[in-house]
Amino acid sequence: MRILVTGGAGYIGSAVVQELVEAGNEVTVLDNLSQGHRAAVPEPATFVQGDLRDRSFVEQVLADRRPEAIMHFASHTLVGESMEDPFLYLDDNVRCGVNLMRAAVNNDVDRFILSSTANLFGTPDRIPIDEEAPVEPGSPYGESKFMLERVLHWLDEIHGLRYASLRYFNAAGAAAPHRGEDHDPETHLIPIVLQVALGQREKIVIFGDEYDTPDGTCVRDFIHVLDLAQAHILALRALEDGSRVYNLGNGKGFSVREVIDAARRVTGRDIPAEVGDPRPGDPAVLIASNEKIRNELGWTPEYDSLEAIIESAWQWHRRHPNGYESSE
Ligand code: UDP
Repeated sequence: MRILVTGGAGYIGSAVVQELVEAGNEVTVLDNLSQGHRAAVPEPATFVQGDLRDRSFVEQVLADRRPEAIMHFASHTLVGESMEDPFLYLDDNVRCGVNLMRAAVNNDVDRFILSSTANLFGTPDRIPIDEEAPVEPGSPYGESKFMLERVLHWLDEIHGLRYASLRYFNAAGAAAPHRGEDHDPETHLIPIVLQVALGQREKIVIFGDEYDTPDGTCVRDFIHVLDLAQAHILALRALEDGSRVYNLGNGKGFSVREVIDAARRVTGRDIPAEVGDPRPGDPAVLIASNEKIRNELGWTPEYDSLEAIIESAWQWHRRHPNGYESSE
């Protein structure tokens, strides 16, 4: 299948592209490299550098590449940043997504997969979080994704654009050895913990240990990027039978302290940790119910242990201590 992947040079997008090309698809990656890395794009994919804010450029790329499906990863993705600079999200994220959706409609692309987020649910009342949980975005980031879900809903109604919205929990692990997490600045727990293991940082600061959880630190649902990738492949196939929305996590929760302990076991290194202030906006517990995607698509996470997830990330970080830098 011809598939256009926006943000295909980024952490999750490039892992999905890797799996799509291995499955024999003809992939075009569209990325402005503001956060992505050229070296992350797998060799057989066609790379087009450019910006989704530029509507005529986007229309042209679709007219040239004639994709049959689009996967839209390109996005600002940080809750904290969205609380400081809401327009990056409520304007930029939304505008870029809508430009792409308009081009999809104009160019007769009728399959679309959106990277959405658990932040749609803010601070949920019930754990695990299923698809029936009320949507109350926890930040402009989550709101921007919800707005795009709503646009897709109407484009399906009016133009028959079939879509899947995949609401990711905490993406983690690496499509090792060649692809992994490389953000600048890095804000995510597992890469920071592994940077401490590598001696690149002095310590990990735990953001609060007085939450209402067994060890007082926040609990998150870490899902391996390659499991996320499989979900995209299955969701794309299922679009034959209509649009759908899934919460996507491995269904297990691990606390920040459990992550640090597992990283100590996997790396065999000392990982100094200290407790700091809580980070504003962090809910205590986020765990997905993945019943719906398991039942409807037959998806099952392969990497459901924390050790397996951290082990793959460790392979990547050890081999690429400075991320993609040396390959660019
Ligand atoms: N966290 C932490 N120290 C850090 C980075 C993250 O204690 O240096 C915690 C954070 O408060 C949250 C969890 O680790 O409870 C996961 O955070 P991350 O930023 O990786 O993902 P998020 O849950 O925000 O999507």
